[in-house]
Amino acid sequence: MRGNEKGSPYFHTVIILVRRITAACALSAALTACAATPQPVRPAPSPTTTAPSAPPTLAPGPGGLTPVFKNGSRTHGRTVALTFDADMTADQGARAAAGEHFDNPGLIAALRALKVPATVFMTGRWAEQYPEQARSLGRDPLFEVANHSYSHYAFTGDCYGLPTVPGDRMRADVERAYAAFRRAGVPDARPYFRFPGGCYDRRALKALTPVGVTAVQWDVVSGDAFATDAEAVTRQVLEGVRPGSVVVMHCTRSAAPTTERVVRAVVPELRERGFRFVKVSELIGS
Ligand SMILES: [Zn+2]
Repeated sequence: MRGNEKGSPYFHTVIILVRRITAACALSAALTACAATPQPVRPAPSPTTTAPSAPPTLAPGPGGLTPVFKNGSRTHGRTVALTFDADMTADQGARAAAGEHFDNPGLIAALRALKVPATVFMTGRWAEQYPEQARSLGRDPLFEVANHSYSHYAFTGDCYGLPTVPGDRMRADVERAYAAFRRAGVPDARPYFRFPGGCYDRRALKALTPVGVTAVQWDVVSGDAFATDAEAVTRQVLEGVRPGSVVVMHCTRSAAPTTERVVRAVVPELRERGFRFVKVSELIGS
């Protein structure tokens, strides 16, 4: 992601947009989507899959569109799902080779030490770069691995300056990520997909219908992307979390260096408030 370098217009745009998004979320709890979601589609309310071997998914939306999940029930207890996007873009291989860290082993170790279940939305490119970590996450029952595309290119025309996946390549990009997970040794990646940048529209939801995924957005923006102030991110999470919340954070030291510290602060405080950490699959299935 050429535009991801600090100091680039993309960097500043992200900060501004994240702040705007956060303000919008704080203003209205009734907002159907807090991210850049031009045409949010309401998912059908009930899960359709109950077999223990199959993760729960949502029924397709109107016209068979890929369903979109944003948060769990507000009335089924104080549960919260921390989600971590393991971002690496298809064109960042040279930067990784030059020593840039797109992984965050300290964060994963903290989640394990604190016994916090979590959902990791991984790009296929990340799994290729860090196959041992991908396999370790995929085989640890504390975690579930979900799909964040192969390339981390945008699925809409205008998404934080990311390069765009053509409409006829969207399905292949998502399926390529699942193939990368299998090659890395992730046995059962979940049928959940997070759009890069959270950007989607009707065309993207239609393109992914044959894949059978549930799109997973969020209702709490942690603001950890490019953040340098762990306390500010911590405050933002603690102020945003409600029962059933999905919090979006990142698993990449390069672009989110405070996340481990944020997790170490947020987890005991939310437990103190009576929250229980769950994976996205539990929120979708409850
Ligand atoms: Zn991402």
